[in-house]
Amino acid sequence: MDSWEAARHRLVEELRALGIRDERVLEALHEIPRHEFVPEAYREHAYENRPLPIDEGQTISQPYIVALMTEALRLTPQDRVLEIGTGSGYQTAILATLAAEVYTIERFPTLLEKARARLETLGFQNVRYKCGDGTVGWPEFAPYDGILATGSVPRVPPSLKEQLADGGRLVIPVGGRHYQTLQLLERHGDAFGERELCECSFLPLIGEEGWPPEHAERPCGPEPEDDESPP
Ligand code: SAH
Repeated sequence: MDSWEAARHRLVEELRALGIRDERVLEALHEIPRHEFVPEAYREHAYENRPLPIDEGQTISQPYIVALMTEALRLTPQDRVLEIGTGSGYQTAILATLAAEVYTIERFPTLLEKARARLETLGFQNVRYKCGDGTVGWPEFAPYDGILATGSVPRVPPSLKEQLADGGRLVIPVGGRHYQTLQLLERHGDAFGERELCECSFLPLIGEEGWPPEHAERPCGPEPEDDESPP
């Protein structure tokens, strides 16, 4: 066992003690090398149960939250999953280990391309990538058996509910800009069962059915015209 694997093993035991029960989820966290998804400077902290900074002012989510959200999706190997907020690609790797296909959307091209490179190096061939606004989903490949948002929204985006298959599960942090409740929605025909999983604090999803941009950011779009610039 190398030292990374030993650290991963300790993390998995910690998550088990914190109440994660699904053995497939724990096994996926044991398999995926989180240290490959964090910047060099933070590698030694990769197997601590906490979020860490990545590029573009974003973070790689805390392992406990990754495990909790994944467990709530109750994925089967036949499932097709939509992920909003690729970030480092770590959660993507966990989903791609447990499901048949993963569709992942990220608004920063820099993050998306790095995540793609990592996941390809690790051998994942069941992931489709898109740069854009994931709050409106990815209708082309809908419906999805699972949808997971790794950023917060003020209210559940109607587009995501629409793109959920019958019996599908949606996990999403809903609430204020800084603190939210992690919600699990389950679709039964036109009805949606709802359950609150825990209190949480996620970075915002910026988009049409998420939060408006705080600053003049333009991660995927064209350069603004001169006359749109502030005076
Ligand atoms: N799952 C990631 C978490 C990244 S944080 C990880 O563990 O590494 C949330 C991510 O959502 C950020 O990368 C951010 O850029 C992205 N994001 C924000 N708004 C978005 C939107 N509307 N569509 C897609 N991605 C978005």
